[in-house]
Amino acid sequence: MVQHHRALGLAPLSTAASSVAGSAIDIARRSPVQPVTLIRPHAAARAARFFSEKFPGRSMYAVKANPSPDLLQVLWDNGITHYDVASIAEVRLVSRTLPDATLCFMHPVKAEEAIAEAYFTHGVRVFSLDSIEELEKVERATRHAADLTLCVRLRVSSEHSKLSLASKFGAMPHETKELLFRARQTADALGICFHVGSQAMTPDAYAQAMERVRAAIVEAAVTVDVIDVGGGFPSTYPGMEPPPLERYFETIHRAFESLPISYSAELWAEPGRALCAEYSSVVVRVEKRRGAELYINDGAYGALFDAAHIGWRFPVTLLREPESEVRDHPFSFYGPTCDDMDHMAGPFLLPADVVAGDYIEIGMLGAYGSAMRTGFNGFGSDETVVVEDEPMASLYVELETRVASNVVKL
Ligand SMILES: *Cc1c(COP(=O)(O)O)cnc(C)c1O
Repeated sequence: MVQHHRALGLAPLSTAASSVAGSAIDIARRSPVQPVTLIRPHAAARAARFFSEKFPGRSMYAVKANPSPDLLQVLWDNGITHYDVASIAEVRLVSRTLPDATLCFMHPVKAEEAIAEAYFTHGVRVFSLDSIEELEKVERATRHAADLTLCVRLRVSSEHSKLSLASKFGAMPHETKELLFRARQTADALGICFHVGSQAMTPDAYAQAMERVRAAIVEAAVTVDVIDVGGGFPSTYPGMEPPPLERYFETIHRAFESLPISYSAELWAEPGRALCAEYSSVVVRVEKRRGAELYINDGAYGALFDAAHIGWRFPVTLLREPESEVRDHPFSFYGPTCDDMDHMAGPFLLPADVVAGDYIEIGMLGAYGSAMRTGFNGFGSDETVVVEDEPMASLYVELETRVASNVVKL
């Protein structure tokens, strides 16, 4: 049996999905006319447990990766107590959904009204900033509160990541001394944060960023209470298979331990993608085939923004019974809108005999996929189904198998 509930954007409240059985192929059997989002709470739960048990510090979920209230509840139930929010709407959403959660307002450029509402109405005490102007905004908006944790965001390289976050935010090396010094005077606790870019393909990205942190601390000669290594923890996609997450954790822990900070300093991280990439996928129908181009019913304005605009390759599977035995062939996709930009180059590998009417599951869309849907041109769908089968790829299942086989060898 499969249960439906409305798709969850920022506005609606959680609809508390009850437990249901089903798998991707069950959905295809029902021949849905619209794309269907498949939700896998067990996969997000596994990722949350992994971070809360293995990351050598505190993991806070970066809500922008997927703000679904159902997902927030799953993460909370599996040990994620802190949430990185970037807008007042995210602050309101998380306070409403998880009233006991701790919120950290980690966007370095905020509206003063948003800071004031976050502080006075929602109890937010942690704010990030990357300029003196922003520091002054936080001071004014909180009426010079004495209980703030202020995280100074440093600009670091995104060279090891698939998606840069290096040009927009972060204090430059020549600015950090004054900023850290000034923030230290206002802050009850002073933090340093950075973001190495999303989908960081090697732990070295963090090691290098931590060297910037070290230089900034030494130069400013301030006491630092929090080191926040940001997001960037990878998931796994075709052609982007990262090393195991434990390697990232080890590298970060080693670098943290060697920083000139007090021994009571805390280590934080803000994983977005790594906590929710496996949480959802989408089942689409092929409406037309033109050579190696498939016209499908979801696209750039739906869950496939990254596939269209940055050429991200998501895993795909043909949902046909009996399974096709024809060899795989590279395909590209067109989405349903009338816009030429609604094109996903792929290549997506599918059996060469795909035809109109076939269903395809596109996997690993839990992060920056479902969150980006629009209703442009009258397309898009809010049908969501909870399924219990495994995601098309996982960083955590392999780990479990590896651990299990180590145990057997012992
Ligand atoms: C986007 C973002 C994150 C999450 O990044 P991922 O690459 O999804 O882990 C964390 N922190 C900040 C400040 C961000 O902007």
